[in-house]
Amino acid sequence: MILELQDVSTFYGRIEVLKKVSLYLEEGEIVTIIGANGAGKTTLLKTISGILHPKTGRIFLQKEGIERYSPDRIVKLGISHCPEGRRIFHTLSVLENLRLGAFTRKLIKDELEEIFHLFPILKERMKQKGGTLSGGEQQMLAIARALMSKPKVLLLDEPSLGLAPKMVEKIFETIQQINKEGVSILLVEQNANLALQIAKKGYVLETGKVVLCDNCSNLIKNEEVKSAYLGG
Ligand code: ATP
Repeated sequence: MILELQDVSTFYGRIEVLKKVSLYLEEGEIVTIIGANGAGKTTLLKTISGILHPKTGRIFLQKEGIERYSPDRIVKLGISHCPEGRRIFHTLSVLENLRLGAFTRKLIKDELEEIFHLFPILKERMKQKGGTLSGGEQQMLAIARALMSKPKVLLLDEPSLGLAPKMVEKIFETIQQINKEGVSILLVEQNANLALQIAKKGYVLETGKVVLCDNCSNLIKNEEVKSAYLGG
């Protein structure tokens, strides 16, 4: 097991947004979290990456308890978070954005080569300002930046959001390629159809609680999942 959450509860003020969430990710797996708007998916990723701290419960990266660590310490240990809404720096170039993702490391030449192998378009756009990229290219840059810290675990928040179907397909192919190269992935998605196709295991989150966990091949056939998340 590479990542494990045990009974994690996270609050905004007095409101309990994650309610005793337990889940785990085996090394080399893609695991998806599906759920409606406001179910707590983003809060879950923020809690793992140290932006938020749980009030109770434990989070382990391999055997190390990380739930009180700062975000930069968590990045250094090997968890990288690609946030919802592709928060790239619009006024910085593609290359400068990528350099920022490598803040934990000095030598970035090899990483850059790997990144440009995965995303050839970013090499072409290297000197262009982030804000002038298309939505899909910005999403690629956001994922690429998250990879620059050489994570063991990649947290992906809604990578398909607002993108045209063709671009979504491309992003999902790349996610699978990143996974094949050895990165374990926790994927939060509203597009449950796609997420369940590429992930091995899935969790359904409803109002902060895990209500279902199964292999994706079973979830796709589950009547409740079908009617709530797969459009019938
Ligand atoms: P979405 O897909 O819309 O991003 P989500 O499943 O990621 O939804 P979260 O963003 O984690 O959901 O939000 C979970 C709940 O916490 C929601 O009810 C939301 O209104 C609330 N919430 C989120 N951020 C804050 C905040 N900073 N302060 C107070 N409440 C918040």
